[in-house]
Amino acid sequence: MREEKQVVYNFNAGPSALPTAVLEKAQQELLNFRGTGMSVMELSHRSQAYEEVHNGAIARLRKLFSIPENYEVLFLQGGASQQFAMIPMNFLNAGQTAGYVMTGSWSEKAFSEAKLFGEPYHVASTKESKYSNIPAAETLEFNTNDAYVHLTSNNTIYGTQWTDFPNTGDVPLIADMSSDIMSKPIDVSQFGMIYAGAQKNLGPSGVTVVIIRKDLLEKANEQVPAILKYATHANSNSLYHTPPTFGIYMLGEVLGWIEELGGLAAIQKRNEEKAKLIYDAIDNSAGFYVGHAAPDSRSLMNITFRLADDTLEQKFLEEAKEQGFVGLNGHRSVGGCRASTYNAVPLEACQALSEFMVQFQQNNR
Ligand SMILES: *Cc1c(COP(=O)(O)O)cnc(C)c1O
Repeated sequence: MREEKQVVYNFNAGPSALPTAVLEKAQQELLNFRGTGMSVMELSHRSQAYEEVHNGAIARLRKLFSIPENYEVLFLQGGASQQFAMIPMNFLNAGQTAGYVMTGSWSEKAFSEAKLFGEPYHVASTKESKYSNIPAAETLEFNTNDAYVHLTSNNTIYGTQWTDFPNTGDVPLIADMSSDIMSKPIDVSQFGMIYAGAQKNLGPSGVTVVIIRKDLLEKANEQVPAILKYATHANSNSLYHTPPTFGIYMLGEVLGWIEELGGLAAIQKRNEEKAKLIYDAIDNSAGFYVGHAAPDSRSLMNITFRLADDTLEQKFLEEAKEQGFVGLNGHRSVGGCRASTYNAVPLEACQALSEFMVQFQQNNR
């Protein structure tokens, strides 16, 4: 029997909402994928039908994100967490330094892995302000002989986001964009490498997108197992071993959906409108809701806030749940509330949450 989609407002932090149109298309194609008589999951990853899916997804990524020719697009596994390890494994040799800009828990995890390989250091850290802000890009200082500089473009847990990225000169800038990739247009050529787990803005979990400048592949350490070497995957068009075929298919369809909406400039406009609805409910609440992020560092993807005390916060979360809002609890490490408003979250969900927040305040002041 076909299950109808139940109406909920999904604000999950990841895995998170997918466009309904994409889920419906996947459902239609599930048993007979484009005349093959099989599901896309049952195709050989060496077949022509799958190759079209794979190369189609790469082509859409390149076009939508305006990725220059001198970059490779890779589909890997192991999530962003595996990238935390692969980056220093490939690029940081014993005794070498690498700068890490510390803006939250994910930066900390990336930093710990680098310590196993070389001499990472903190370029800056906003830990003292409970990671409520992003350091000003122009105040950052790097060693010119760093292997690379690493930052987290959007801090999923604390709800802060970079707007202007630092210029690291000849030192490659590497960004973990797991929670804001393709939420707005950016200039990819500012970066040596960009990576993101797909499960926030691009599709289901299981695929990691890596965009890497070709010259970095040549500079990488040779003493790395083949499966963990970027060059291995670049040399085989991410078909060195069996890729997560269903996830890549879904990612391609999500990108198709972004194309139909008008591309990244249109998505950005929509994301700004969505976030504004919720930030306005915070800012107009006269302190009933208190945002965690400093206003100039606010994320358009993860909106973090608290209420006056734990009892009221629990009441808010419980009533929200009854009204069909899903995923509003803050990350277990920081508590509070968080609304994740990734690309696929519809404007109506943000409108409904904003109205609920105003109503809850009226009923509980
Ligand atoms: C979710 C997230 C991660 C972890 O991703 P996995 O795919 O679970 O390894 C890393 N960095 C950021 C910024 C995230 O949002």
